[in-house]
Amino acid sequence: MHTREGGGLWTRRSARSSVAPRAGLALVAALVAGACAKSPSPPPGGGPSGAPSAPALLPGANVLFITVDTLRADRLGPYGFDRPISPALDRLAAEAVVFDEAQSSTSWTLPALATLMTSHPTSTHGAWDFESPLDESYTTLAEILASNGYDTAAVASHVFLGREFGLAQGFTHFDDDLVQQIELSHLAVTSDAVTERGVRFVERKAAARAAGVDDTPWFLWLHYFDPHHTYFAHTDFPFGDSEEDRYLSEIAFTDRAIGRVLDTLRATGSEADTIVVFTADHGEEFGDHGGLYHGLTLHREVVRVPLIVRVPGVAARREAAAVGIGDVLGTVLEVVGVEPRNELSGRSLVPALKGEPLDDAPVIAELRRTVDARFDALLVGPWKLIRDRGEAGTLELYERLVDPTETLDVAHRHPGTVLELAESLDALVQQAEVAGSGFGRQRRGVGADMAQALEALGYVDGVAPSPADGASGEPDGEPDGDLDGNGAGDGR
Ligand SMILES: [Zn+2]
Repeated sequence: MHTREGGGLWTRRSARSSVAPRAGLALVAALVAGACAKSPSPPPGGGPSGAPSAPALLPGANVLFITVDTLRADRLGPYGFDRPISPALDRLAAEAVVFDEAQSSTSWTLPALATLMTSHPTSTHGAWDFESPLDESYTTLAEILASNGYDTAAVASHVFLGREFGLAQGFTHFDDDLVQQIELSHLAVTSDAVTERGVRFVERKAAARAAGVDDTPWFLWLHYFDPHHTYFAHTDFPFGDSEEDRYLSEIAFTDRAIGRVLDTLRATGSEADTIVVFTADHGEEFGDHGGLYHGLTLHREVVRVPLIVRVPGVAARREAAAVGIGDVLGTVLEVVGVEPRNELSGRSLVPALKGEPLDDAPVIAELRRTVDARFDALLVGPWKLIRDRGEAGTLELYERLVDPTETLDVAHRHPGTVLELAESLDALVQQAEVAGSGFGRQRRGVGADMAQALEALGYVDGVAPSPADGASGEPDGEPDGDLDGNGAGDGR
């Protein structure tokens, strides 16, 4: 929990602008400068200046958060995939605001989900690697909502959502029964089990409300893991035997499970007062840049994620401006009318929900997972810059609007642009580091078994195991171990 008050990094700007495909560098510099300006600006719902608060779109609404691990946006119908493998998400998108260019803060699970839950980039939240869980000094979305009267619940299906990595902060009910030792979790098929738990929670809350015994709003986070490798071909979705065929089968399988949760919202009469946020932690590579899986680069196939936000009463539309997953937290708070208690990164996307043009703003991604995978990236205006922070020190530049798949590095053609963007990227990263300097940091050993498993899975090139964990990522107070309201912590 963090209690600093005062001016923040909220970067909502009143001036509207749009960036043409060939926007000049001056405009890009202005965008970055705007993001770097640290003048306090009003939090969602109104600021300290006495200005009238903007009305929330759906005050006190329930919040259903659905994240799917390793889901690249362009394998879903709403993002142009030409095979009908995601009917449930297609239906959701048809009733929602679809963000065309949402970028993760990185390309692997832990720091991405830490960004989603705190709004901060990795340089601020500090959960860089397997030995750095999210510190308790950060205030998570669950903590903010819980302190505003929300019943908070999560179903974790992967080790990085385990309590030891700090993402259970703020959840009254945290079901981690499905979290297994990391090698097993890659082999487990859990989407149906995640859905069953989510459905039970929604049904229980709806019944309690109907009976007049519990009218508190709720925040439910369901994390699905099946599209992560190892990929399985599901009997009901036989698309073929290649790695990618099986990946698509996992997506279809997960989509069906998600559909049952969305159906439950409708069946229980909860749909009209529940906002649904659907996104992913990162994408996946199938040889796009010569590699496989994720967590090794910051190219688009691993950092672009779906972002679909359905708010009852808000018209469906698409938003083309680049946004970051760090923007989700502030957006949710503004929609439900909860003011953040301290500094946020990112910005509110509520203008996009209202059908107003969204300001262009720079979006960064960072990766420091292994000594061989250290990159920063900047998405701004028509450009995407990727800086290798390792020994190679290379800078790649892509014209993202005309070359979205990042096939042609044009850095040699635009040396001046590269230099200026690199300076901008450095400034944004430094700003994020400064923002993080007031928070605590944890280092903890991963344990010999975990270190061995991580290496066997190809995650790391050697993590030093430490049997004596230096710190615990337990949240304040022990949450329930289940979502059925039985109240008993599982004691693990
Ligand atoms: Zn992941």
